[in-house]
Amino acid sequence: MEDIVSLCKRRGFVFQSSEIYGGFASCYDYGPLGVELKRNIKNAWWRSMVQERDDIVGIETSILMHPKVWEASGHVATFNDPLVDCKTCKGRFRADHLEHIPCPMKPSKMAGQAEPCDLTEARAFNLMFKTTVGPVEKEDESNIAYLRPETAQGMFVNFANVLTTARKKLPFGIAQMGTSFRNEITPGNFIFRTREFEQMELEFFCYPDTAAEWHEKWIDIRYQWYLDLGVRRENLSIRKHEWDELSHYARDPRGTGTVDLEYKFPFLDKPGELEGVANRVDHDLTQHAKHSGQKLTFFDPQTNEHVVPFVIEPAAGVGRNMLVFMIDAYHEEEVKPGDTRVVLKFHPQIAPIKVAVLPLLKKRDDIVNVCQQLTKDLKKKTAAVYDDTAAIGKLYRRQDEVGTPYCITVDVETVEKDNAVTVRDRDTMQQERVALDQVQNYVLDKLGV
Ligand code: ATP
Repeated sequence: MEDIVSLCKRRGFVFQSSEIYGGFASCYDYGPLGVELKRNIKNAWWRSMVQERDDIVGIETSILMHPKVWEASGHVATFNDPLVDCKTCKGRFRADHLEHIPCPMKPSKMAGQAEPCDLTEARAFNLMFKTTVGPVEKEDESNIAYLRPETAQGMFVNFANVLTTARKKLPFGIAQMGTSFRNEITPGNFIFRTREFEQMELEFFCYPDTAAEWHEKWIDIRYQWYLDLGVRRENLSIRKHEWDELSHYARDPRGTGTVDLEYKFPFLDKPGELEGVANRVDHDLTQHAKHSGQKLTFFDPQTNEHVVPFVIEPAAGVGRNMLVFMIDAYHEEEVKPGDTRVVLKFHPQIAPIKVAVLPLLKKRDDIVNVCQQLTKDLKKKTAAVYDDTAAIGKLYRRQDEVGTPYCITVDVETVEKDNAVTVRDRDTMQQERVALDQVQNYVLDKLGV
């Protein structure tokens, strides 16, 4: 994990937020390569959830919503984590996450073992960030708004709008990606748990008697999506929530609860949640219908009945996804005795740079010209870069380290003899000679993106 955190900083994937001021706890910035990786993950999700399906449409809703949304959804009353304080060190912890908390203020009588904290009784701490809206100086009930803690409610309150404008019939889904905020008691582990994070969520509306079946289907679809993009099967697992972990909406006896896709994060002592797939039954639509006075049903022309659909929700975090893709892609390989390379074996679809064009001799104008023209052409089709700031061996290593699937090298022979270039494969390090006028199609074809 330390190697990945350091690679993220060194190569511009992730920076600490406000670093020049000493950082701001649990907030991160995504650098030039991080932003590409993140966008590729989101595009891959959107492509499989929206573009390739005809039963799901997208939406983008506002982060600030009417405060009644959060009363109706149950978040004001129940979106809480159990908070405990230590009376000695004043530390604050999430009671359900820690069994033994060593207290830094109680040095141990036995070497290496601090005594436990003196914990208060757990009390409910609401995770929603509050803000005030408009030019007001005093906070009162009328000007409070919340930063959304999930994107889901934006989809529920637009259920009727989408139903009529997109002319959908059950079953159908609404998908959204966007930023959510939670005032986590104990954020940490790099980008695993932050107070501001992006989510990718689907609300899939279906007939109540088909919800159990759709729940299973969505667990399978989402599990397969991770495998297809290169996450290792042995690190993924599926776990059903225990009763005491279930969210308020998932406790309904008509539903099938929540199932997590978990991943063996190296910093956790047991697999941790990567994505949750919940059966939210008809909780949200019923609540919003009640609180808004609007009808939020689907009229079934076959039975002439109004149905309140059940909802299956696969919900993933973009940052947590990115971490998983990086951990599984990270390899250290001994190329020859005493010579190790770091390589990120990203699936081509998510690799931040797809192809790098490198000159063997940067002093030769003819070589550089060929490189630059090729890069310019490639850039119209994919994420390509040109680099001449080191010797070729070093240039290859740099691209390996950020996961670029292919490098194209232009050499003296290219311009003097065969009008061909060398294509190097990141994973096998094999090199092939390909005609210059074919190389674009050759590489794009291999990338398959
Ligand atoms: P946890 O148990 O880890 O707190 P959760 O069950 O509250 O997570 P959900 O409400 O199911 O999480 O949110 C869906 C997804 O959003 C999670 O699987 C995770 O990938 C992501 N997510 C949730 N909270 C955070 C956070 N604080 N930082 C980063 N990602 C998060």
